[in-house]
Amino acid sequence: MSIDAPTAPAVLPVLSHYINGTAVEVAPEATGPVYNPATGQVIARVPRGGAAEVDAAVAAAAAAFPAWRDLPLIARSNIFFAFRNLMYEHREELARLVTRDHGKTFPDALSEVLRGIETIDFACGLPVHLAGMMTPNISTAVDAFTLRAPLGVVAAITPFNFPVMVPAWIYPIALMCGNTVILKPSSHTPGATQLQAELWTQAGGPDGTFNVVYGGREAVAAIVEHPGIRAIQFVGSTAVGRYVYEEGTKRGKRVGAYTSAKNAMLVLPDADLDLVADAAVAAGYGSAGERCMAQTLLIAVGSAGDALKPKILERIARLKITDGMEPGADMGPIYSAEHRASIIDWIGVGEAEGADLLVDGRTFEGPNPDGFFLGVSLFDHVTPAMRIYQEEIFGPVFGIVYAATFDEGLRLINDHKYANGTAIFTTDGGAARRFKLEVAVPMIGVNVPIPVPAGYLSFSGAKESSIGDLAMRGEDGVRFFTQQKMVTERWPEPGKQGPLSLVFPGNA
Ligand code: NAD
Repeated sequence: MSIDAPTAPAVLPVLSHYINGTAVEVAPEATGPVYNPATGQVIARVPRGGAAEVDAAVAAAAAAFPAWRDLPLIARSNIFFAFRNLMYEHREELARLVTRDHGKTFPDALSEVLRGIETIDFACGLPVHLAGMMTPNISTAVDAFTLRAPLGVVAAITPFNFPVMVPAWIYPIALMCGNTVILKPSSHTPGATQLQAELWTQAGGPDGTFNVVYGGREAVAAIVEHPGIRAIQFVGSTAVGRYVYEEGTKRGKRVGAYTSAKNAMLVLPDADLDLVADAAVAAGYGSAGERCMAQTLLIAVGSAGDALKPKILERIARLKITDGMEPGADMGPIYSAEHRASIIDWIGVGEAEGADLLVDGRTFEGPNPDGFFLGVSLFDHVTPAMRIYQEEIFGPVFGIVYAATFDEGLRLINDHKYANGTAIFTTDGGAARRFKLEVAVPMIGVNVPIPVPAGYLSFSGAKESSIGDLAMRGEDGVRFFTQQKMVTERWPEPGKQGPLSLVFPGNA
């Protein structure tokens, strides 16, 4: 498999909005820069869309909706099979674009693309999930049934950290349910989005069914306020998710927001500590800690912490931090210079709060001084009173916390304001069972550090990590993107029509 970096273009490519099956070009002055975080160089320009582009996308999506809704399910499904195959054929190209814009390593990006395709696989077979239920004979000559109808024009607003996988958790299900879609991806990592829209058209997706509008705050405000958009799934930070949820629901939209996180793994002294050390380093520093399911706190029970520390330090010393396209890279740069500065500030906060900084990522020198590189950091003796315990840092900063007992560790996890993913490491089945039943976090790993459910299952956090009732993907994804209708149907036999009655209809 080739992992050659894309060659630097002579002229900067300018990405286009994708509306009504066509790339909509924009003037360079209406664009912003896209950086390759491994070099710090501007490698493309991304449009800064706003109300006008959202209006155009909604108009195209609304016009495409009736024919798309009425297309036989098998015809929709066949387009999805073709799209799935194209996404798979282009997986390396997609992954290269992800690594170029985000900085994560190429194998990590490829794995993200394949995990995104899992949800497209689910969409191919979605007709079975659209089945309704029929209850015959609820009254004389009366039958009742439910059916699931698409909502209309819906939107997805997505974050920088999974430019293929997170959009692919949303738009395939929305489309396969019969909706038409507007995707507003992050402007930091836009490269792989346009290709997904183009592949959709190539697969036979009708014009206007899948539209992309690039932009930031203005584009999001236009989506939230647009009366033609019926539902929004948002993935990103809690602050922006709360705004999208509150402003969207105020306008009668269905909104699901899947938001920030701070995940902790609980380690019991009986665990296989080599497995735990691998898991901690992989889950804490993989993708530079820029995953909502990263585990960046390790709560060690009893003697587990002291035994683990040297094992974690030894693994950190072996990490290769370099350009994500370099063979053997374990971790790439941080996605932006601003975010690197924020992580550096957080390391200072941890020091000021009195945590022991065993490894200081600030001293790391990257392979390219213009790139946004940062080494990994390890804090020991982190306590729940510290802000580095309470807040999401979203970078390669890992903290060890101590608990005397299983119950204390469990309570710490349950008291945290965030609740996205968690894991227990133990060889004690009884402790694992109690953890699964009592932990107040919905996505749980048992000896699995990053328990992201498979692409055909639902995905959601709780508390400050999720706003709204339904999860993304899976059965909940279908519920979210459809309206259940309840039909009561009467076919009286000729001549058996009863007399006129103003009594409330009974079913006897
Ligand atoms: P973000 O909230 O900054 O951006 C998310 C989206 O909102 C982007 O499309 C962005 O353009 C837009 N946006 C940003 N600021 C805005 C503003 N002020 N007004 C309106 N729109 C705005 O998030 P991010 O930095 O791209 O992603 C990282 C965050 O996403 C982390 O908090 C991470 O935990 C979270 N995340 C959550 C999940 C999950 O499933 N729970 C998955 C991935 C990432």
